[in-house]
Amino acid sequence: PRLANQIAAGEVVERPASVVKELLENSLDAGADRIEIEIEGAGSRLIRVRDNGSGMTADDLPLALARHATSKIAELDDLEAVATLGFRGEALASIGSVSRLTLTSNSADEGAGVCAFTEGRDMQVTVKPAAHPRGTTVEVRDLFFNTPARRKFLRTDKTEFAHVDEVVKRVALSRFDVAFQLRHNGRTIHSLRPASAGMEQARRVAGVCGPAFMEQTVAIQREVPGLSVRGWVGLPTFSRSQADLQYFYVNGRIIRDRLVAHAVRQAYRDVLYHGRHPAFVLYLDMDPAQVDVNVHPTKHEVRFRQGRDVHNFLFSTLHKALSDVRP
Ligand code: ADP
Ligand code: MG
Repeated sequence: PRLANQIAAGEVVERPASVVKELLENSLDAGADRIEIEIEGAGSRLIRVRDNGSGMTADDLPLALARHATSKIAELDDLEAVATLGFRGEALASIGSVSRLTLTSNSADEGAGVCAFTEGRDMQVTVKPAAHPRGTTVEVRDLFFNTPARRKFLRTDKTEFAHVDEVVKRVALSRFDVAFQLRHNGRTIHSLRPASAGMEQARRVAGVCGPAFMEQTVAIQREVPGLSVRGWVGLPTFSRSQADLQYFYVNGRIIRDRLVAHAVRQAYRDVLYHGRHPAFVLYLDMDPAQVDVNVHPTKHEVRFRQGRDVHNFLFSTLHKALSDVRP
């Protein structure tokens, strides 16, 4: 039952950024290595996500839009893992019920593709031929056009766009191997090439977090049995008045965790902290059995089995790195 609740809880489409998040996850699930996001009016007029993933056939399209239809749960054993990652066969159906949604796709390298359109709750799906290279384009227009109460709940375009941008940044920092482009009202916001080696990864982080961040960071890399951390921590010259540049990934998943935040803050404070917020992009990798991510599919929380070890490891690693660069 808890699992069922978790699954249901994830179904909410709260704002344009939640749509973008779901569509990006689908594109990544489909194995895309190039994803283009185009939005207008901070996403309430248009969200278009185009990928070069596996694509869908004419038979796949109505299924993709049906509730509880997922192609991703092979066995019941997978269900737990799948639920924590947000795979639940609800996203497209939920989004389609509050927008005008067009799916255009092609699962083959040649030939034409197919497209399907739905509008609001009636979910009449008509599949037609359409030109599309291998991959999928999902177009979401007029989000909440039929739910005025939710539409009214949207904030200013500036705020909604900031949420969309944050989703894209988080995903872009989690998948260096994928090219991302974000355009808003015709303007290119991010254009990120795939990054494999160190220099390229640094360039991607600069692209996402701004060049000033990379110029004022110390690179982190340390491994002990069972734990490894790498990434970048901003020098105190780059500390922030807000906690808005803090990205922490555990086994590739972004998380927010008090223990982690505490370890970083403490390392900062000990070295040269000025009462401002540290900025960081950090990747912790560890034995999946040592971390419980099955808390809530949308909250990005974790529970470490050996919390104190993780804390000490992070604290000592960052403390040393920051002390080494102290003038
Ligand atoms: P879930 O991702 O939980 O399976 P969704 O509602 O997000 O549920 O998507 C439903 C189904 O539509 C997916 O299982 C997948 O088969 C298909 N699908 C959605 N987006 C894409 C995409 N970009 N490329 C290929 N298939 C997709
Ligand atoms: Mg999905």
